[in-house]
Amino acid sequence: MSHEIRTPMNAIIGMTRLTLNTDLNEIQLKYLKGIQSSAENLLVIINDILDFSKIEAGKMDFESIPFEVSEVMHHVADILKFKAEEKGLILKIDISSGVPDFVKGDPVRLHQILLNLAGNAVKFTEKGEVSMRVTYSSSNLHFEIQDTGIGIAPEQVNKVFESFSQAQADTTRKFGGTGLGLTITRELVTLQGGQIGVNSTLGQGSTFWVDLPYEPAEGQVKPAT
Ligand code: ADP
Repeated sequence: MSHEIRTPMNAIIGMTRLTLNTDLNEIQLKYLKGIQSSAENLLVIINDILDFSKIEAGKMDFESIPFEVSEVMHHVADILKFKAEEKGLILKIDISSGVPDFVKGDPVRLHQILLNLAGNAVKFTEKGEVSMRVTYSSSNLHFEIQDTGIGIAPEQVNKVFESFSQAQADTTRKFGGTGLGLTITRELVTLQGGQIGVNSTLGQGSTFWVDLPYEPAEGQVKPAT
């Protein structure tokens, strides 16, 4: 089912991009750019709904393969760099010396978890910084994604992980989104035996944390640079 939905969406996005590279007058350019941004927004929503239904159906599978934690974190930062720079935000990564270079787990799902959390941090922060930190202890990777953004009111903080929930009624209008990102993120963490939580102060910022029980991967050596 997901294939049937994603394929035509990717065709719409791809062909819009191709058409944008042809000779167009100003009006056509404006309309096509409208199609492009709506299609990209719709694809994000479709991906959320497809992931959510896969989780609900108990069909979400996880890999356990060796991968480099810092590579995943830097890739997430690369994706968000442009948006952060546009808003004048500092984007930081801090990898503690105790973190093994390689661990065994699911790099694709870890990427999705960190991109959701750090993407929200950038989205809900107008000035200051967003940082992604990781430490390691007792066979647990501990991530903290901290921002200096709008924060979450105490009465809302427990609700943000609920499906279709947004902390303020005007969030969709102001920031977009479906309210599914954190629900999916929480499921991706807990289905792997991990934990997730948040500490937040309204008007000052939020720190989302994630614990994942990933073991160090034996016999993997980082190539000398
Ligand atoms: P959305 O698609 O709205 O981003 P999420 O499930 O990712 O949905 O987040 C749910 C709600 O939690 C958001 O609408 C927002 O109100 C709140 N939220 C999430 N991350 C942050 C953050 N870093 N700072 C402030 N509020 C946040």
